[in-house]
Amino acid sequence: MRKIVHVDMDAFYVSVEIRDNPELANYPVAVGGKTANRGVLTTCNYIAREYGVRSAMPSSIALRKCPKLIIVPGRMQVYQEVSQHIREIFSRYTSLIEPLSLDEAFLDVTDCELFKGSATLIAQDIRQTIEKELRLTASAGIAPIKFIAKIASDMNKPNGQYVVTPDQVDAFIEQLPLNKIPGVGKVTFEKLQQLGLLKGADIKALPESELVEKFGKFGRSLWQKCQGNDPRMVETSRIRKSVGVERTFNVNQVQESELAEYLTDKLIPEVMLRAHKYIQSRGIDKIGVKVKFHDFQQTTKEVKHDKIDAEVLLSLLHDALLRGEGKEVRLLGVQVGLKDPKEDEAQLEFDWK
Ligand SMILES: [Mg+2]
Repeated sequence: MRKIVHVDMDAFYVSVEIRDNPELANYPVAVGGKTANRGVLTTCNYIAREYGVRSAMPSSIALRKCPKLIIVPGRMQVYQEVSQHIREIFSRYTSLIEPLSLDEAFLDVTDCELFKGSATLIAQDIRQTIEKELRLTASAGIAPIKFIAKIASDMNKPNGQYVVTPDQVDAFIEQLPLNKIPGVGKVTFEKLQQLGLLKGADIKALPESELVEKFGKFGRSLWQKCQGNDPRMVETSRIRKSVGVERTFNVNQVQESELAEYLTDKLIPEVMLRAHKYIQSRGIDKIGVKVKFHDFQQTTKEVKHDKIDAEVLLSLLHDALLRGEGKEVRLLGVQVGLKDPKEDEAQLEFDWK
């Protein structure tokens, strides 16, 4: 059994803002777009949440719910620096770290010898260290399985942690409302409810084939999770599979000739530059063109090919545009698919997600 810790900062962006402007501490505060009729909030503090304000809510609605809400603009660079520091703290406990975003990561602490190997005490120490060095709080979930650790980190939020030991896993899953499982969104949850499936136990009792029949691939993964099978390891690095460049136009484009010119003059030279070092070591597997139309319909055309070939890309562009039947184009991109690296090279390529 692995020992997985999921660490999640509490209301991350807004907590950084309040730390740096302590006079905000007793007010409802959010980070987000300032203009009342356009912006969206990224995060809000717990005082704002009492008014029903939520992250990803349009600022205009948030201000209606909470007229005294203070909205501050975000400082991405500061958040990135704090995030780097947090990762450095993680690395004192294990090298098996899988960041999910700036403020969230899975850690596999199975081989960590601190605190006699107690994952509970390790998680506590990580949170205390973050608080001491960064004056920010984090919550943690501890479990033998990734998705359970993630659910657990939410249970005693903010500034708390929750442990699911190996012998508690079955009982934990059985009582688990299905909308707590990552991947079960609102629509899926409604569909599950209509079938009388509310908790982990309801899924566990069904044959796998029934879930697969009703929900396809997702059904299989949900059934597996409810059996307590989540074999995913903490993934410390991701192998780059492709290099791409894309551009959203200020004004939507409709002429194929102009798009073709943009492709050859701007995007192809740029992708050549960016893909250069990967092409040298790995080689090209396929090339492709991505087009997004004004209504956000998106299409990608690609072919197996071993070099970045303008003529081939132009014919892919032509085919992609046919699919849009004359619709205006808002985004154009070029993608270069890379061959799999040889084993020893895979070790060297290290990409934070
Ligand atoms: Mg968070």
